[in-house]
Amino acid sequence: MPDNRHITLIGAGLAGAVLATLLVQRGWQVDVYEKRGDPRVQGYGGGRSINLALAERGRHALRLAGADDAVMQHAVMMRGRMVHFLDGRTDLQRYGRDDSEVIWSVHRGELNVVLLDIAERAGARLHFDRGLSAVDFDARIATFTDPRDGNTHQVAFESLVGADGAGSALRAAMAKQMDLGERTESLGHSYKELEIPPARDGGFSIEPNALHIWPRGRYMCIALPNDERTFTVTLFLPNEGDPSFATVRDGGDARALFERDFADALPLIPDLERDFERNPTGVLATLYLDRWHLDGRAVLLGDAAHAMVPFHGQGMNCAFEDCVALAEQLDARPDRASAFAAFQADRLPNARAIQQMALENYLEMRDRVDDDDYLLQRALEHA
Ligand code: FAD
Repeated sequence: MPDNRHITLIGAGLAGAVLATLLVQRGWQVDVYEKRGDPRVQGYGGGRSINLALAERGRHALRLAGADDAVMQHAVMMRGRMVHFLDGRTDLQRYGRDDSEVIWSVHRGELNVVLLDIAERAGARLHFDRGLSAVDFDARIATFTDPRDGNTHQVAFESLVGADGAGSALRAAMAKQMDLGERTESLGHSYKELEIPPARDGGFSIEPNALHIWPRGRYMCIALPNDERTFTVTLFLPNEGDPSFATVRDGGDARALFERDFADALPLIPDLERDFERNPTGVLATLYLDRWHLDGRAVLLGDAAHAMVPFHGQGMNCAFEDCVALAEQLDARPDRASAFAAFQADRLPNARAIQQMALENYLEMRDRVDDDDYLLQRALEHA
């Protein structure tokens, strides 16, 4: 275990908050710098994917951080996929034999707020409105910029941990020092979020305990429940071809697409045009790096190290597993460089495998879950 037990985390998102808690619990002094303002004061401005599927892998990390009970208060159980066929029929394909094998839908903003509270209560020091903008690795000085006034603040560090997401500023700074073997593969598909509000009686409009899928071959919609009885719908379309985000360009085009292909979903989304035009179009890509650390001075984890397409619902779960692995290595190794190297050796092959599964699951979700042969095979597996 290193003598000096101070560490600087970049990003107070999902991984940053969990890692901060795990390290403080192990006796580390932790400072966390976050580009955005405090979501507990000014509301969550995350800007993407309103809710996330939380699986057992992620819950294991949350239990270790003492956060599982608090998070589960905001979670909605999803027993399986509810497939919506073109002709309006539906079919629930369970994930397991009973409710011990389920996944959970959690609101990203609520989850982040709960995790920040726990990290702060544990003793982590959180600094908001501090975006990492430059790093001098020789002098071990990090520069943070306050997005509100552009003022810069310099901070000395022993090691930086990049939990700053897919567009990681720490990764960009590290890449100026060494070849990370970085490559990004675009999926050629993007997404748009829409909302199903509660029903007139205040309850859920459709079955709450399921992940709803409208598979349509080259494209699809999904919907996950939120605990305030709404659903977040995500429309995935290719970037080119017909239909695609090149042909479905405004609210009117989106309505025509839904009338044709997602007819049973259309009446559930009263603000389809507004949502489609107001919400940004998210791009989907897989980020591969061959190296995740710069000796003992910096290391990346979560999306900063291995962003993936969301079709296996495992990006956050994998990021939480990274947090446990890194905290354990920092405890077990005599110095930071060997802890970071052991962390990379442990987690990089796992991340690659999950990235591949996420890509394969897109084909399965949009193409195969309404395939009769496939349904028969699954029925036999579960018979
Ligand atoms: P983030 O959550 O992106 O957090 C990064 C933090 O760093 C943010 O708070 C950001 O403001 C901050 N930051 C950024 N730059 C700086 C800077 N320069 N200085 C300081 N701070 C900075 N995963 C699942 O497990 N289940 C799902 O169902 C799921 N669904 C998804 C659906 C979609 C549409 C998408 C796009 C992703 C989905 N994911 C899902 C993946 C999941 O969102 C990510 O894997 C997860 O958010 C990664 O956590 P993170 O902490 O590494 O990064």
